[in-house]
Amino acid sequence: TAALSAPFVRDWLLRCCDAMSEARVGLIDLDRAIGDGDHGENMDRGFSAVKQLLHDADGDQSIAELLKSVAMSLMSTVGGAAGPLYGTAFLSASRAVGEELDSAGVAALLAGALEGIQKRGKAERGEKTMVDAWGPAADAARAAADGGEDVVATWQAAAEAAAEGAQATIPLKATKGRASYLGERSIGHLDPGAESSRLLIAAAADAAAN
Ligand code: ADP
Ligand code: MG
Ligand code: MG
Repeated sequence: TAALSAPFVRDWLLRCCDAMSEARVGLIDLDRAIGDGDHGENMDRGFSAVKQLLHDADGDQSIAELLKSVAMSLMSTVGGAAGPLYGTAFLSASRAVGEELDSAGVAALLAGALEGIQKRGKAERGEKTMVDAWGPAADAARAAADGGEDVVATWQAAAEAAAEGAQATIPLKATKGRASYLGERSIGHLDPGAESSRLLIAAAADAAAN
């Protein structure tokens, strides 16, 4: 596949809605261990709003418009730490994309999302946050695009790196967000935001491949 267009983004976002609904309880459990137990509820609420928005949309929106409307929707419905972070991620991603997504466009989208998250949350990699999923995903997409991979392989590489990055949060001590209140006791648990990020990026790889 040479390049993806707006229907791909729409399909990706719809898959995100299903993924967040399916992961609701799992994300709640993860957040119960090192946070306040609301991450699954927050994400499911946010993506239910996204589903409604996609349902109401006329279908003529560009990739950037779709991502921006998702950003606005997440910012106003998710709440907590994740709402502004994911909102900024999608907003920043919307500014990084063009009319179509080729491999370099995927890399730009992910780099944009990462930049938004870091601008907003000030977390570096290794602090046991969603940055530990988006960071490796953005790097892997860049490497795949530079290596001449097509969009499907580029999303696949990003999804694999996000999964590895999320798993790698388990032994980390949280130094940002609510989990940081636990200090050493945050060690040994998967970060909920890294896990939801993994699922959102996996949904893109699935949408691209299908
Ligand atoms: P809250 O912690 O307000 O209840 P959520 O439970 O919805 O919000 O989201 C928690 C997730 O947000 C964490 O698992 C972590 O991945 C992410 N997070 C928290 N603070 C930051 C930050 N400063 N930078 C990046 N991600 C963060
Ligand atoms: Mg929480
Ligand atoms: Mg909360």
